[in-house]
Amino acid sequence: MTKHPFILIPDLLKAPARLEQGIFGKKARIMTPCAHRPEEISDKVWKSADAILVWHWMPMRADVIEKLDRCRVIVRMGVGVDSVDLAAAGKRGIRVCNVPDYGTEDVADHALALFLTLARGIYAFSENVRASNSHWNWHSAGTLHRITGSVLGIIGLGPIGTAVAMRAKAFGMQVLFYDPYIGPGQEKALGIKRCRSLDELLSAADAVSMHVPLTPETKGMADASFFFKMKKDALFINTSRGALMDLDALHAALKSGCLRGAGLDVLPIEPADNKHPLIKAWRKREAWIAHRLVITPHAAFVSVEADAELRSKAALEAKRVLEGKKPFHCVNEKWLKTA
Ligand code: NAD
Repeated sequence: MTKHPFILIPDLLKAPARLEQGIFGKKARIMTPCAHRPEEISDKVWKSADAILVWHWMPMRADVIEKLDRCRVIVRMGVGVDSVDLAAAGKRGIRVCNVPDYGTEDVADHALALFLTLARGIYAFSENVRASNSHWNWHSAGTLHRITGSVLGIIGLGPIGTAVAMRAKAFGMQVLFYDPYIGPGQEKALGIKRCRSLDELLSAADAVSMHVPLTPETKGMADASFFFKMKKDALFINTSRGALMDLDALHAALKSGCLRGAGLDVLPIEPADNKHPLIKAWRKREAWIAHRLVITPHAAFVSVEADAELRSKAALEAKRVLEGKKPFHCVNEKWLKTA
């Protein structure tokens, strides 16, 4: 590692970056411009960065990667790497790494929290009793079904999907999963049931929770036919990526009464697109959507503990590369080989 590496943390983090300074050493220069768009950072800064630690605000597109002269590693502060052009970085010999395991527990807890909020009518009860004491009764959240024995369908049984499965089992739920890439035996180890097709899961689950990465295969997976195949009155939870779902289709499914409710931590456009009819109706608290849609601001990973874990793991990963060591979680190996 050069004696005075320049570490650029383009988005989200506000100075002082004490944790990172402790890892890279006193002589490292760390810049935290807290920008949203590449144009907010000068070409000179992009050119001189030795390592970039990027959150999810800043898209690392090919045109930005073109500007990097010294950079040896980009670490995505999180799991999803869809905001980084992996091929463009690889072709320039820049390693892209992620931190796949920093907030597994937090995201799983959040998915369950969204589910429980809707399934137990917490949101509806709370809003109603706040509005008036005339709602001080147990009918104001509509029909509630017992969680124990109900069926949760998990799409994607990676670390987060697995952590959701463990939690749902503790609630006495029957857990199904669909993940064609998971080898045999996992269902036995966890005591859950594998579905051989997405349709099998959708038609059996009282609630469906998405835990797949955003890929060309999964983009738009939750479309009109997906919602149509779900059980009437089921709940839909998405803490993964907004682009996994078609918001128009979700709007139609909720409005037609096909779905009971949705808990979303992610949206196809973030922050929420105020022009979208579902978002408009939700903001205006239109009667048909009242208490059936819970939205949180891509915050499933948030906890003090996850933040410290993420930042230290990301900085240590970048430091490994700057020291000429092999990183633990490089996600663009296949393009590096062609560099
Ligand atoms: P992972 O990539 O480790 O695991 C995902 C699983 O999905 C894998 O087992 C994979 O085999 C499976 N999968 C891939 N394509 C599939 C398909 N077409 N059908 C079914 N299964 C498929 O991911 P993870 O760490 O468990 O994270 C899950 C999701 O959570 C990711 O989308 C990630 O971006 C998101 N995430 C969100 C937040 C947040 O704050 N909201 C934080 C962290 C992660």
